[in-house]
Formats: sequence, C-alpha cells, structure tokens
Amino acid sequence: MGGAAPAGVAVLPEGTEAGHRRGPGPGDRFSLGRLLTCDNCDQLLRPSWDLSGERQYIFLCGCRRGGINADVVERLVYQRVEAESVLLVADVAVEALPAVFQGIFAAVRIGHSTEDLMFVWRI
Ligand SMILES: [Zn+2]
Repeated sequence: MGGAAPAGVAVLPEGTEAGHRRGPGPGDRFSLGRLLTCDNCDQLLRPSWDLSGERQYIFLCGCRRGGINADVVERLVYQRVEAESVLLVADVAVEALPAVFQGIFAAVRIGHSTEDLMFVWRI
C-alpha cells in the first residue's frame, strides 16, 4: 500500500474530475477504473492523465513505471467482450460501459503490458 506515483505523472485525488485539460465532464469515461488490477500485487490501477493530456491508467503500487494507455487497454477489453458475444456490448452507450464491464468481469488483471491481460469473468 501507499506506493509513490511514478515521477512526472499527475495523480488526481479519488473522485476528482477537476483540473485536467480535456476531461469528459461529469461522466467517468475510464471504463476500467474499478477493474484494472495489477497482477503482481492486486491493487487497482488509477485513472490519470499524462502530461500531454492522454488518458492512462497508472500503477500507484509502483510495480511498473509508466502508465497504460487507456484507449488501448479499454479497446482490448471491449474487443474481448465483443468476441465473446456482440450482444453484450451492442447498443451500449459509452457512459454505460463501466457498469457493463463490471457486470461481466470480476477483474481485469494486467502484468507488464497490454499484451499481458488476464480476464476474470463473472459470467
Ligand atoms: Zn502492483
């Protein structure tokens, strides 16, 4: 617990949306914010933004330096769900994806990169 954030990464307090440059507004567009888990130590990754404003997930635990590109990992998870059944994500609004993913997965574990994803299914 309590690992320092990697240098040069802005960490927002939990639940805070203010301050970032191109935020999505009140909706939480980080669809894996309660799912993406460090495979090494079981801590959730934290949604954040890098210095250029790109969305990312960071390892607050410090197991890995640098962030995971949020668009990339969220697309991979979406495609995995779609591969299982297009019905699961058909007609689902972007705002509803967090709840959909949380209904499908107990966790999405990540090792060293987005090529290292492990899905823990609820269904
Ligand atoms: Zn970790």
